[in-house]
Amino acid sequence: MTQAPQPFDVIVVGAGIAGVGAAAQLGSRQRVLVLEQESQPGYHTTGRSAAVFAESYGGATVRLLSRASRAFFTQPPAGFAADALLTPRGFLFVARDDQRAELEALASQGDMLGTGIRLSAAQACEHMPLLRRDYVADALLDHGASDIDVHALHQGYAAMLRRNGGRILCDARVTAIERHHGGWRVYSAAGMFEAPLLVNAAGAWADELAALAGVARIGLQPLRRTAALVDVPRHDGMDRWPLTLDIDEDFYFKPDAGRLLISPGDETPSEPCDAVADEMDLAIAVDRIERATTLDIRRMHSRWAGLRSFVADRSPVAGFAPDAPGFFWLAGQGGYGIQTAPALSRYAAAQLLGRGTPQEMADMGLSAAALGVERLSAL
Ligand SMILES: Cc1cc2nc3c(=O)[nH]c(=O)nc-3n(C[C@H](O)[C@H](O)[C@H](O)COP(=O)(O)OP(=O)(O)OC[C@H]3O[C@@H](n4cnc5c(N)ncnc54)[C@H](O)[C@@H]3O)c2cc1C
Repeated sequence: MTQAPQPFDVIVVGAGIAGVGAAAQLGSRQRVLVLEQESQPGYHTTGRSAAVFAESYGGATVRLLSRASRAFFTQPPAGFAADALLTPRGFLFVARDDQRAELEALASQGDMLGTGIRLSAAQACEHMPLLRRDYVADALLDHGASDIDVHALHQGYAAMLRRNGGRILCDARVTAIERHHGGWRVYSAAGMFEAPLLVNAAGAWADELAALAGVARIGLQPLRRTAALVDVPRHDGMDRWPLTLDIDEDFYFKPDAGRLLISPGDETPSEPCDAVADEMDLAIAVDRIERATTLDIRRMHSRWAGLRSFVADRSPVAGFAPDAPGFFWLAGQGGYGIQTAPALSRYAAAQLLGRGTPQEMADMGLSAAALGVERLSAL
C-alpha cells in the first residue's frame, strides 16, 4: 500500500544556502520541509565558493542585496554562530594600462563611494606585494569587503530552521511534481509530500525542476568556475593581503590559510552536474596570475569547480511564477549567492508569507520588479 503524502505548508527543493536560508526565515508558524538530492546539504555550489563579501562586486541589484545583507552578517541573531561570520579582507580591483576605462567605470558608480579608494599603481603594490609594478596601471580597493565563514552561515540557518521545527531531508531527490488540490504534490526518493507553496532553490537544476512541475523555464545558464589552492612561499603579513581581482575578472587570487586560492574567472556553459575542475582552466589561471605577479606556481594543493547559474540580466530571480500559483523561484544567484543570502532569504520568506518587500530593503530601493520573473520576458 502506498503511504499517504505528508502535509507541509512550504516545501523547499535544494539545501544550498538559498533553500536553507529562506526556509529558516519562514519562522516557526509554518511547517517547512527542505528536500535535498545529495547526502549532505551544501554539496554543490554553496560548498565551492570563494567565500567573499564585497558590496562593490556584481550588478546594481546584487550590490543592493549585498548592502542589505551586511547587518545580518555583522549582527546575526543571538546564538546563530559561535564566531564572527565576516573577517575583513580588502577587495582589490587591478587594471592594466589597456583596462583603465573599465576601472574608471567601476569607480564612478555612486554606491562605490562609501568603501572604495582609488589607488595608484605603487599603492596597489604596497597592498599586494606580489603584483608586478610594470603590470598594474590603476587600482581600486574596496576596504569594506570581507571573507565569509560560509559553513557557519549555512549551518546557522540549518540550526535556526530546526529550532523553528523545520526539517531537512537528504537523499531526497525530487523526481516528479504535480498539481494537487490547488497546491503541489512532490515525489522524492524519500517519500511523497504536499504543500500549497513550493520553493525552487535547486541551484543549477532550477530550470529542470520547473520543467518537472510544468512551469515555464527562466533560461537559467549554469557556468562552470574553477578554483584551486596553491602552495606559495610564506610572506610576512600575507594573511592580511586583499583578494586581488583583474577588472575584467580574468583572474583572482586571495590568501587562504597559508596558501593562495586562485581562479581564472572562467564561465564555461555547462549542464547541471557535479562540476569538476578542468586542467586547461587551471593552466590558464596559473599563466594569468604569473604574468600579473612575481609568483612561480609549482604545486597545487587542491582543485575544484562549481556552477554559478545566471539568467540573462545576471540578477537573482526571487518571486512567484506568473504561470503557476504557489510556485516560488529562488534561483540565478550566480557568483553572489553567499554574500546576498541574508537579504534574499528574508526577502523570499516575506514574499512567501504574503508580507511584500521588507521595509528596510524597500527603503534601500529594492523593488519586487527587479527580482521577479516577469522582468525576464522584457529582456
Ligand atoms: C568557484 C566559485 C566561487 C564563488 N565565490 C563566491 C563568493 O565569493 N561570494 C558569493 O557570494 N558567492 C560565490 N559563489 C556563488 C555561490 O556559491 C552561489 O551563488 C550559491 O552557492 C548558490 O546557492 P544555491 O543554494 O542557489 O545553490 P546550490 O548550493 O547548488 O544548492 C542547490 C541545491 O539543490 C539541490 N537540488 C537540485 N535539484 C534537486 C532535486 N531535483 N531534488 C532535490 N534537491 C535538488 C542540489 O543538490 C543542491 O544542493 C561562487 C561560486 C563558485 C562556483
